[in-house]
Amino acid sequence: MTSETNCVFCQIVRGDLPSYKVYEDERFVAFLDINPQSAGHVQVIPKEHYRWVWDYPDIGDYFRVVQRIARAQQKAFDNESVVSRIMGDEVHHAHVWLFPSPWTKGDVGDKKDFARNAEKLRAALR
Ligand SMILES: [Zn+2]
Repeated sequence: MTSETNCVFCQIVRGDLPSYKVYEDERFVAFLDINPQSAGHVQVIPKEHYRWVWDYPDIGDYFRVVQRIARAQQKAFDNESVVSRIMGDEVHHAHVWLFPSPWTKGDVGDKKDFARNAEKLRAALR
């Protein structure tokens, strides 16, 4: 059973684990996935520990943030197609995968260039 003490996403929220955060407000944070599917692959999570996305009480607020990140990805990576995925089996803390589609464009940039990809997203979110 995963609890907040050993949950990797809770550790990222607390700053106990390093991450490339691209967005943060009082309730949500978005950071680059460590094993990206494409350049700019982000996980959007609530700061509070919920097991499933569907457990989050203000789902509309959550998805407004998800939409904002997706729009920034479209802009930052000049790619209209953003893939979203909700599984929940890898890390037991609610999270939405968002990544610019690697299939619609030939060159989507270096997915392992975390510093550059994070900066592009932060700039698009300003
Ligand atoms: Zn957690």
